[in-house]
Amino acid sequence: MNERDSEAVAAMLRGRGYRIVGSEDDCDILLLNTCSVRDAAEQKAIGKARYLQHRKKRQPDFVLGILGCMAQNRGGDLLAQLPDVDLIIGTQKFHRVPGYLDNLRAAREAGVPIPAAVVDISEEEGSQNTIKDHAEPTPDEAPSVTAFVSIQQGCNMSCTFCIVPRTRGDERSRPMDEIVAECHALAERGVREITLLGQIVTSYGRRDYAHTGGVTPFVQLLELVHALEGIERIRFTSPHPRGFRNDLVAAYARLPKLCGYVHLPLQSGSNRILRAMNRPYTRERYLEIVAALRAARPNMTFSTDVIVGFPGETEEDFAQTRELFASVNYDMAYIFKYSIRTGTPAAEMADQVPEEVKEERNRILLDLLRENSLRRTTAMVGTVEEVLVESRDRSGSHFAGRTRGNRVCVFDAEPRHVGTLVQLRIERASVSTLYGVVEEGSEDYGGDVVPGEQDSGSAEPRFHHPCP
Ligand code: SF4
Repeated sequence: MNERDSEAVAAMLRGRGYRIVGSEDDCDILLLNTCSVRDAAEQKAIGKARYLQHRKKRQPDFVLGILGCMAQNRGGDLLAQLPDVDLIIGTQKFHRVPGYLDNLRAAREAGVPIPAAVVDISEEEGSQNTIKDHAEPTPDEAPSVTAFVSIQQGCNMSCTFCIVPRTRGDERSRPMDEIVAECHALAERGVREITLLGQIVTSYGRRDYAHTGGVTPFVQLLELVHALEGIERIRFTSPHPRGFRNDLVAAYARLPKLCGYVHLPLQSGSNRILRAMNRPYTRERYLEIVAALRAARPNMTFSTDVIVGFPGETEEDFAQTRELFASVNYDMAYIFKYSIRTGTPAAEMADQVPEEVKEERNRILLDLLRENSLRRTTAMVGTVEEVLVESRDRSGSHFAGRTRGNRVCVFDAEPRHVGTLVQLRIERASVSTLYGVVEEGSEDYGGDVVPGEQDSGSAEPRFHHPCP
């Protein structure tokens, strides 16, 4: 979500004539989009902002802004630690950033005394509809063949460890027709893969649209995006296990563009801890969902989020998490050591788990993930996978793309392959990456979509980010 919010702010600024520069050393304005999900993320952002403030001494017109979740969470209190920050802009106010910057610059140019920092963290009705801009690539940028589309913001759940409902507010969904129009416009400019985004994406539209024939608004939206010409792949993140009802499971059997990769947050494999987390499912229900999805798509791959060391987590609780974690055989997982978030119920719970125990449980799951992942990638050597060629890889000498199962692949190709689906023969594998060769004549340009020639660009494939 943060990456998409940053993209949208950048697109709005470009629309006003601002230029995005390649290095922070070259900029006049620097906006930090921040995360609050763990205390370490906030500390990192504060450390970075503190360092950047010093730049004002040698560059008096330098503008420093803090956006997003930490701005929302801490508001004006941040000024005690960061007195030279110019903007503190919350999660419902990203679209106000260009206006605030224009005002600041105009005041400086007119020699008008500049007020203290602008702090804007209030709620704004309809703010979820403002994250919709996508920047046109400049002549030296490669057009993107993948895009994030924000469909929903906020969360009405109350997981006891999570600060997101406070930083992102209540669930608010965008109108279905606006989302479909955005996806259509992206397809027309060569985007082949869409990732629908929301804090709890499977709850999309549940207050705004009726279920029709047992089909939830989220699945109705998937059907509409699926019907768009030019879009070849659809992903979404982050869902909630409770959103995987029959209609969504069945969608995997009937919507071929829906990629067979599901991010299914687990958090814990112990029913006792799930209850303490206020997660409304059991390990049995979670495994039922996994089995149903594998029945709908036999080669379905899964990623997850797990928290180790939640208050009161015993060896027995962790053993259950470890056992479930091994049995699902995840492709990817975001494993977090529980971190106290002030203002959440879990922060007040007794039996906080010592750091060294969290560390050990984290290491055990990471080792398991590495083993699972290597076993899965090694088994793919010799197979042929459909890969969407996204861009040059980070080195610039090869190309990169992903399988339908979201596995990153690196291979030799031609610039004309970018934006096409190719068949890749896998020749070797590491824990997280497949290396292969493109089968001759295998590219599929998908009807009228003709990708632009791309001689530059080094964007690496994007991974899904975790739901907390
Ligand atoms: S963990 Fe996910 S579902 Fe739970 S409160 Fe946070 S954002 Fe909502």
